[in-house]
Formats: sequence, structure tokens, C-alpha cells
Amino acid sequence: MIELTEVTKEYSKGVSALHGINLKIKQGEFVFIVGDSGSGKSTLIRLIMKELEPTSGTIIVNGQNLGKLRHRKIPMYRRGIGVVFQDFRLLKDRNIYENIAFAQRVVETPTRIIKKKVPAALSLVGLAQKYKSFPKELSGGEQQRVAIARALYKNASLIILDEPTVGLDPIQIIEIRDLIKELGQTHTVIFSSHILSEVQTICDQIIMIAKGKLVAFDTPENLEQHLLTPNEVILTTDASANEVQTLLEGISNITELSLEEPDSGLVTARIKTDLSDVYQISRAVFSAFAASGNTLLELAVKKANLEDIFLELADNDAAAPELPVVEGEPVESEVPEE
Ligand code: ADP
Ligand code: MG
Repeated sequence: MIELTEVTKEYSKGVSALHGINLKIKQGEFVFIVGDSGSGKSTLIRLIMKELEPTSGTIIVNGQNLGKLRHRKIPMYRRGIGVVFQDFRLLKDRNIYENIAFAQRVVETPTRIIKKKVPAALSLVGLAQKYKSFPKELSGGEQQRVAIARALYKNASLIILDEPTVGLDPIQIIEIRDLIKELGQTHTVIFSSHILSEVQTICDQIIMIAKGKLVAFDTPENLEQHLLTPNEVILTTDASANEVQTLLEGISNITELSLEEPDSGLVTARIKTDLSDVYQISRAVFSAFAASGNTLLELAVKKANLEDIFLELADNDAAAPELPVVEGEPVESEVPEE
């Protein structure tokens, strides 16, 4: 449904906001784009919307090569996608009903259809009762939902949401996440965030970008399985730090060891290993302590999770390009609205 081949976007010459991106998103998939602020998420979304032109590379959406899309057909192309940009705006002096109805009038929908579809879109986002409210009377989460309703009225099969949970409180985040989860049942959904834990469990594919480069594109399960982060064993003991050090030196496959001595007089050791079976380390620790007569007060295993993987990939300089500092005018490439 969406295919990017070697897509690079430079806002100014020689500085790429996105670099050599290759990815394929299938119909019906729920795709999560994650990356730090400034990594290129919004640029990617604006390229797919043809709000921006790539500097090089090809973007195909529903069989349509965007590079070959005629200028006069761009508005129709955009109407086929329900999008909420990160910096969406609601009309301040119009109520919620009008905010959505006006967007429909732009696409020349007959009034009788608007009258039916606006309440339908509002009830989808749970705001049917508030249709007379003005944006300033709504919470951040509710405003976000109005923007989602405005994107939904089109009945587009593809919905794109750029950082829909930024600036929301934890309860609002859960509400929006549940709504997006529901949309994912019936739509192709692309959802971006700088917080990995947001939807990692419910999405089909995760696109990780760091400094404009694709660092990973896979299912959450595969990412967790194939990408290594050292698993960790954490122990607490009343043995001295020196004793702990000596005991652990006798265990092989420890790649990293850090000891902490909190005020309580106990010692906590964090052990990392490159073994795929982290429990081998737990067994060895347990035996070493038992043999030495020292007491192990706590022994826990911390499994690698996607957050660790992402931090590791994002930090990996080999995976991300250094962006040179270039003075000068941004490259003219925005496509003006008709
Ligand atoms: P994200 O959405 O992941 O925070 P963006 O796609 O907004 O990242 O930005 C990626 C990079 O491109 C950043 O370094 C940002 O400063 C730069 N950038 C974004 N928009 C523009 C623009 N219109 N002109 C010049 N540089 C831009
Ligand atoms: Mg952004």
C-alpha cells in the first residue's frame, strides 16, 4: 500500500532530514513510527502526504507514484488519507460541529450528508454530546479527538496520526491510545511517537528512526527476539563489595558489572551478559554465593525490552549519519495547496 524506495529528504543542501529510507507498509497494518524529536518522523509523514517532495527516491501509495502525480490531482490524493498533523489547528471561533463540517465543505460534500456524517464522526471519538462546545472548552485530549474525527469523516482506509499523544496527561493518553487501537481494527493506521512504550504491544510493525535513518523496521516480536541488548541479572547481598567482586570474577560470560552500595549497608550488583540464556548467570551466581556462605538477599533477572533496544540503536553512531552544519537557504520543495 505504501512503498518508499531510497527516499532522502534534504531541507537544505547536503543536510538530510531523512536518508535512504526503504520500507513497505501493507494494507490493514498498524504501523508505529518511533524516533527521538528531530529524527524525521514528521518529515516522513509529510512526504507520504505529498506536502513535501523527496530530494531523491520514490514513494508509491496505493499504486500511485507520488512523483508522477499531476499537480491538480494532489488535493484529491490527500483527501483519500485521514491525517492529523502534529501541529493541527482547530478553528477557535467555531464549535466542534462546525470545525468538522467546514472541513467537509472544503471537499464539496452536500449539506445533507455533512449533517449525517459529522455526528457519526464525533460519536466515533466519543464526543457526540459536545458538538456545540468550542475548542477552548475542551481538554487537550478532546481537541486531539476532534482532529481525529475531522480526519475520520472522509472514510479513508488509511489514517495517519503524527504524535497524537504529545502534551496529553496520562489518562488522556490512554483514551487516545484506546481510540487508535480501535481504528486499527478497521483501518491501515500509521502512528508516530517519540515514546516507544506507547503502542509497542498492539502494532504490527515498528519503524524506528534515528537522525533520519531507518534503524529498524520489523514486528515487535522480531525486534525483541533478534536485536540484542545484554540481559541483566541484579542481586542484592549483605556481603562486602570486595567479596561480591571476587565471587563474580569467577563467573564467565559477564560482560559488564556495576556495584552500588546504598546507605543500608547492602551491596547491589548489576551484571550484564551476552549469553542468550540469562538464567545461566543466575544459576552461577546462586552457586557461587551458596558455596562461599554469603547470603543472597535478592536475585532478579531483567529481560531486554524494546525500550532498551531502541536506546541502543538510536545511540549507535554507526547506524546514524553525522549531520554537517550547513549555512544557507532551505531548498524550495514544498508543494503549494491548490
Ligand atoms: P520529528 O518529527 O521526528 O521530530 P522532523 O521530521 O520534524 O522530526 O525533523 C527532522 C529534521 O529536519 C530536524 O533536524 C528538523 O530540524 C529538520 N526540519 C524539519 N522541518 C524543517 C523545515 N521546514 N526546514 C528545515 N529543516 C527542517
Ligand atoms: Mg514531528
